[in-house]
Order: sequence, then C-alpha cells, then structure tokens
Amino acid sequence: MKADLNIGIAGCGIGGLALGALLAAKGDRVQIFDQFKAPSPVGSGLVVQPVGLEVLRALGVGETVLAKGAKITHMNGVETGNGKVALNVSYGARFGLAIHRASLFDALLKKAVENGCEIIPSTTIATQEGRNFTTHIGTQLGPFDLLVDASGAGSKLSPLQSTPLKYGALWATVDWPSASPLPQYRLSQVYGGATRMAGVLPIGSMPGESTPKAAVFWSLRVADYEAWLAAPLAQWQQAATAFWPEFLPFISQITSHEILTMARYKHGTLRRKTHGRMAYIGDAAHCASPQLGQGANMALLDAYALGTALGQHPVENALKAYDCARRHHVFSYQMMSRLLTPLYQSDSAVLPWLRNHILAPFSPVWPFSKVLTKVGAGDVMRPVRGLAWPPR
Ligand SMILES: Cc1cc2nc3c(=O)[nH]c(=O)nc-3n(C[C@H](O)[C@H](O)[C@H](O)COP(=O)(O)OP(=O)(O)OC[C@H]3O[C@@H](n4cnc5c(N)ncnc54)[C@H](O)[C@@H]3O)c2cc1C
Repeated sequence: MKADLNIGIAGCGIGGLALGALLAAKGDRVQIFDQFKAPSPVGSGLVVQPVGLEVLRALGVGETVLAKGAKITHMNGVETGNGKVALNVSYGARFGLAIHRASLFDALLKKAVENGCEIIPSTTIATQEGRNFTTHIGTQLGPFDLLVDASGAGSKLSPLQSTPLKYGALWATVDWPSASPLPQYRLSQVYGGATRMAGVLPIGSMPGESTPKAAVFWSLRVADYEAWLAAPLAQWQQAATAFWPEFLPFISQITSHEILTMARYKHGTLRRKTHGRMAYIGDAAHCASPQLGQGANMALLDAYALGTALGQHPVENALKAYDCARRHHVFSYQMMSRLLTPLYQSDSAVLPWLRNHILAPFSPVWPFSKVLTKVGAGDVMRPVRGLAWPPR
C-alpha cells in the first residue's frame, strides 16, 4: 500500500489546481501556494480541447464546466477583403469547450478545496532547495515528499529557457451582442496576411452569471503596444472595424485601453520535467503561443499524468513515469506550435500565402481533415504513454 504523501505545489492555476484535486482525492496532504492575495484567475477565454475535457470529467467537474462554457464545433478564419477561407477545421463528432478562465478556475478551485487541498494565498515562492520551498520574504516551507512547480510561464523555479515572440495579442471579455450574425458554435477569425488578425470566441458565462460572453482578440506586435496605448482608442476601433465590420458590436463595448490586456507569448520546452524531488507541470515546463489552443490542455494532461503515476509508484519512480508519459506528446505539440504560429502571426508574406493556397484548401479534404481535427482535439498521438488513457 502506497503511503500518503505530503505535497507542496507552487502556483494555483489550471495545472496546480487539477493536480491538487487529483492527489487530495487519493488521500495525500496537498498545500497549494500562490502569490495572489485571494484566489483569482488571470486572463480571458480559452478553449479546453477534447483531451482536456477527459481530464476534467475524471476530476468530477465535467458537468460543471459544460454548463458554463460554449461548445465549439468549428474553427473558421477568412482573409479580410476577399473573404478567402484561410482556416477551416471541424471537430467532427467532438467539440472544444470555450470557457472563461474564471469559470474553469472556479470549478477546479471548488473541487480542490472539496477534496481537501489547502490553498495558501499571498505566498510568492522564490526558490526550491531539496525538499523545501523558500518564499520571497525568506520563509522556509516544507519539508515535502514532492514539490511541484505549477507557477506558469513566468516561473522563477523552472530552468525553462524560452524565446519571447514578436507578436502578442490584446484580449478582452465582452457581452455577446444579441444582434451579432456570428455563430456561437465556432471560433471566428479574420486575417490580413499574418501581420493582422482579429478574433471572436464565444465563451459561455462567468461564474454566478448567465449572460453569454465573448473573448475578443487583436494581434499586435509587442513593440507596437506603447504606440497603441498612446493613440486614441477610437482610432483603433475604426481601423479594426474597417478590417472586420462584424467586429464592431463586440469592440464598441470597450470604453478604455485598460479593458484590453496585452498578452505576450513565448516558446520553450524543458528537456526533463523533473529534477530530484521536484516536478514541473504546465507552462512552467513548456510554453507556447495560443495558436493551437493547447496550453490549458497540456497543463491538465501533465496534472493527470503526474497524479496517476503517483497513485501507482513510489515518488522517484512516479517522477520517471510522469516524464516519460508526457515526453512525446509535449514535444510534438510544441514543435507544431513553433511551425504553425508564424502562419498566423509573423511579418512573413510567404507563409500566409501558403496557408491560404495550400493548407486551407486541403483542410476539409480527407485524410487531412481527420489529421487536423485530431491536432486540434489534442490527440493526434496518445496524450500519455504507459498510463491509462482515457482517464477512468
Ligand atoms: C491570451 C491567452 C489565450 C490562451 N488560450 C488558450 C486556449 O485557447 N486553449 C488552451 O488550452 N490554452 C490557452 N492558453 C494557455 C493557457 O492559459 C496556459 O497554458 C495555462 O493557463 C497554463 O496553466 P498553468 O497551470 O501552467 O499556469 P497558470 O494557469 O498561468 O497558473 C500559474 C499560477 O501560478 C501563480 N504564480 C506565478 N508565480 C508564482 C510564484 N513565484 N509563487 C507562487 N505562485 C506563483 C500565478 O499567480 C498563477 O495563479 C492561452 C494563454 C493566453 C495568455
């Protein structure tokens, strides 16, 4: 019989909460430390792909998130002006769940607390040594049987070296306008080559509300952000509406620059996701631009793999099993993200041409359609090796 473990997790985001909920349900003592003053999510909407949904179902929050999010059956993108189709991917018989980060966070937080996790706010983890964490004010926490870095893309603990990308995006959450002709079952995007992109994602409702919301985004070079902030908001709204007229009822709700958050992206992958008694999960282990919409799934899959391995093996062996289970899937998706991101966000004129004239026309044709569906769904290959999949 495996002894119950004493586990310290740095970061109470998607990965930290999912892992905490899993381990606490098995009887481990789990403490999750976060720098926030009170539990709160960061950001706007995201798509939980079918593989991520499997993990959420196994955690017992499937019904809750399905009730809050919007089911997405298609991802559609057209070139501005001529309307040429540049992205045309269907989920087939499955769907992605587009959801506001707050609703996903809310469901995971409730489950983690219900299972017995202790959430400790106002605790910034600065370093890890052996079996202990040290906070930024020098307090030592531990010793733990296992330490987990789930502190996201800005982790201070992870040796991950990442490359910042030239393009990021402005994001905001707005009400879904009743008069909008855009369907609420798909991600809609409009491109101007690869230098411009606008998008609308239906994301269901916020915790405690029933009003349908949309996440809107506008691709922007990081270097141009200061100039965007300095210019009148109406100037951007006019340009964005000329670019995509259907964008207007969404962005007319934005009344100040501050409502839009500039998200910066970077790419990087850890070779080994464990070191001594430490495991790295989620963005602390691998970060990418959100073009493929896989970041939250990857965090959920990491949590599932590590939690399942710890339920089957002593800690050292479980860490090896976790690293091995996720290696191929993480490597493949990180590589695809690196290759595909410049088709949608870069200064290249050639790549968007290839996207519009080669990738898009073939994407509805079998077998390409099937491959693209599986890429989007997150299971173009087995998400975890050597462990049960799908989760039981
Ligand atoms: C604009 C945008 C759109 C995206 N869209 C999608 C999408 O459609 N689909 C998808 O799957 N993914 C998407 N992602 C990616 C996804 O949000 C991330 O991959 C996912 O949140 C990673 O989860 P995580 O648990 O690793 O980190 P996070 O969820 O970022 O959580 C990290 C937590 O650690 C805490 N923390 C940080 N540093 C410390 C510290 N030193 N001490 C203590 N606590 C700390 C933070 O406060 C935070 O609570 C998107 C990302 C962005 C930015």
